[in-house]
Amino acid sequence: MKVIILEEGADLDALSCAYGVLLLYQDAYLLKPSLLSRRASEVFKRFKERFRILEELPQEFDLVLVDAHHVEEYKLPGVKEIYIFDHHPKAPKGFKGKVDEVGSATTLVVEELQRLNVDISPEDATLLALGIYEDTGSLTYEGTTERDALALAWLLKKGANLRTIREFLRESLSKEEIDFLSKSLVALEKLFIDGSKVVVFVLRSEEYNPDFLQVAYRLEDVKDADAFFVIVSVGSKTYLFGRGLKGRFDTSKILEAFGGGGHSFASAVKLENVSAERLKTLLVQLLKGENPAIRVRDVMNYPPFALREDMTVEEALISLAERNFAGAPVLDQEGRLVGVVYKKVLLKVAKLFPSKQVKDFMQTQFHTLSPEDFVWDAEAILSTYGEKLIPVVEDQKLVGVITRLDLMQTLIKQTEPLKPSHRKVQLPKEVEELARVVGKICQELGFKGYLVGGVVRDILMGRRIWDLDFVVEGDGIKVAERFAQHYRVNVHPFPEFGTAHLKVGDFKIEFATTRRETYPHPGAYPVVEPASLKEDLFRRDFTINAMAISVMEEDFGTLIDYFGGLRDLKDKLIRILHPLSFVEDPVRILRALRFAGRFDFKLSKSTEKAMLNALSMHLLKQASRGRLLKELTLAFREEKLLDILKLYRQYKVLEELIDGFQWSQDLELKLEKLKEVVSWHKIEFPDKKLEYGWLYLVILLEKVKGEEFLRDMSAPAWVRELYRTYKEQAKEVIRKLHQAKKPSEVYLTLKGFSEPFYLLLAIEESLRPKIVLYMEKLSKLKVDVSRFSGLKGKELGKAIENEKLRLMDETFTLT
Ligand code: ATP
Ligand code: MG
Repeated sequence: MKVIILEEGADLDALSCAYGVLLLYQDAYLLKPSLLSRRASEVFKRFKERFRILEELPQEFDLVLVDAHHVEEYKLPGVKEIYIFDHHPKAPKGFKGKVDEVGSATTLVVEELQRLNVDISPEDATLLALGIYEDTGSLTYEGTTERDALALAWLLKKGANLRTIREFLRESLSKEEIDFLSKSLVALEKLFIDGSKVVVFVLRSEEYNPDFLQVAYRLEDVKDADAFFVIVSVGSKTYLFGRGLKGRFDTSKILEAFGGGGHSFASAVKLENVSAERLKTLLVQLLKGENPAIRVRDVMNYPPFALREDMTVEEALISLAERNFAGAPVLDQEGRLVGVVYKKVLLKVAKLFPSKQVKDFMQTQFHTLSPEDFVWDAEAILSTYGEKLIPVVEDQKLVGVITRLDLMQTLIKQTEPLKPSHRKVQLPKEVEELARVVGKICQELGFKGYLVGGVVRDILMGRRIWDLDFVVEGDGIKVAERFAQHYRVNVHPFPEFGTAHLKVGDFKIEFATTRRETYPHPGAYPVVEPASLKEDLFRRDFTINAMAISVMEEDFGTLIDYFGGLRDLKDKLIRILHPLSFVEDPVRILRALRFAGRFDFKLSKSTEKAMLNALSMHLLKQASRGRLLKELTLAFREEKLLDILKLYRQYKVLEELIDGFQWSQDLELKLEKLKEVVSWHKIEFPDKKLEYGWLYLVILLEKVKGEEFLRDMSAPAWVRELYRTYKEQAKEVIRKLHQAKKPSEVYLTLKGFSEPFYLLLAIEESLRPKIVLYMEKLSKLKVDVSRFSGLKGKELGKAIENEKLRLMDETFTLT
């Protein structure tokens, strides 16, 4: 009995060749193959019943190897003779079978079948032809010989079915697969590790697609790999799959680092709170044998510094100050962890109770971590509960401390540049001119300069540009000064921030020095230090705002996109750069909704989750009110204000910002109506430059005591006046307007109020005709004064007014 054993991951040529051997020898069997290449496995599935299969090796047999690379591995007990059918130059010789240098191993068996005049069916011919087609690239690969062509010719004569062959050999992916990939493939990296080729893919999709693994298998890059990993980010979850292809690479070992497991050839793990790009960075570092920080133990401060619960407030403060710590875990006499205490709290009570003890002011409700937890679990705790410090506990003992700063530093290390982008961005002409000048100046000074932030986003979106932000790796102010000289304009430097402002034509230009910002506490103004471009971008709010364009001569216009901003622009997503973003700066909550409204973008799932966390922590209440309201003012200037307000409603942000504020159906309706009024007003009175946003705010504040809020918002005087009038008089005016039967009554009711007030009144639809009549006609009515030439002063005024009233009642009618 002859037994064919296929190598693990055997390809289609090997399978076809094996089939030929079955045709050649009636006593031959195929040992059930364990793992075939994708194509071989598809063909095997389809033609399974044609193969004589053996589940287990018999006691004694002749071994047949086809297209095999490692004969020595098969010197098994019970093997009597060895047959080899192989076409590789290095194939072992001196065995039975047939070894020759041709394009495909199958050719060799086909020649034997031909020689022995074996009668084969069209299906047999098809199955055999597949091997030759595959291994010779349809007779086009180097190494193809005339003999392969002749073997193929014979198979065609025997009725090989071309249609079936085409179906299996389809080289390319289907259109759906290509669409899916082009939408979701974020990165693809090929690595060579100890002679193995490993491919890492990153896919991103807001919806789960069950086919992504299948698609990965079919990619050209995977076909000759020893293993591949697919990282898929779906919403806020990230999946990591590993597949070994030729039995030479154990993927489960790698996945264990992330808490996953499985077979040596197939393993998977599902993670929360960690982005796909970051996981890729970590995976690649692991594959390269580096030791990236994955678990809490890799980043925690050790040994931990702790305070004792019976220390006085004063002692504790000194202890913290010596080390410049913002807080510490607290231990009791037995060394058990009993609380966490913050300097901020102690400072507040220090004056009043200097000799009270730490335990009186410590937090006894707090989270702990184990050293085996993941770094991103720590981030999730910090961003969900707002803690600044987490004790790390093992066997109920304090073994370390993790702080927000540790996590931020880890995060930035785990943010890797996307592969250098060769994408060049075409700048608008006027911008390009200015940018080239900046580039030249940077060159002269030995700095590097970039356009950054909103302007890059707007250029990519093809929007109009007004503000140009440049950052300089070097000294932004110096560049600004030379730039100002060049254009003969004034420059306003702010040395403490490393920035300078100036204007050229209509462009407002800011120069900054690349910097890193750390926030002393949530929402505070940040502290600034110099840093690299990457760090400068990392401190920004959203991926779409965190791209740069080089303005240096050598790579002018090259897009620098570390965080996938371009892709998010295409997908219309607002995405924070890291999970701690909103905690770091709660103002970003408002910014996220402003951009979402302005561009009609959505929040990415993980961003939405982080935002909901931040809101439930009431971070908006803790943040710097000045900065929040300044941001809010910007929102009220937006064209799409109403959409932004809808988002505010959805996420309940105004409730956090305005005391006593509540949304209602009625309020939302009023705002919609106000929008109609505003659109009308813009068309009818295009010259009146009104800041309409304030009108919306007045309506929003109608039911609360809003005077103080308006003051905090630095609302202009006319807005505060309008608010007062609206609250005090609108009801009465509306009542009178309803009752007015004649144009003159309308006129008398409305006379003397301001235009914005009329717009607010016009929210009520039934009043609109009267208000429109007043604004467009009645208020502009002129009378011929020559008729009253005998009158003077008050009397003249009265006469004119009476004439007006008469005239308007005569000329106009109320509908
Ligand atoms: P706009 O079109 O409204 O001006 P912008 O994106 O230019 O939008 P700016 O407020 O002008 O926004 O800020 C410029 C850039 O500074 C932003 O693109 C962003 O990169 C960064 N930035 C602004 N505010 C924050 C913040 N609170 N946190 C982090 N980065 C910020
Ligand atoms: Mg801007």
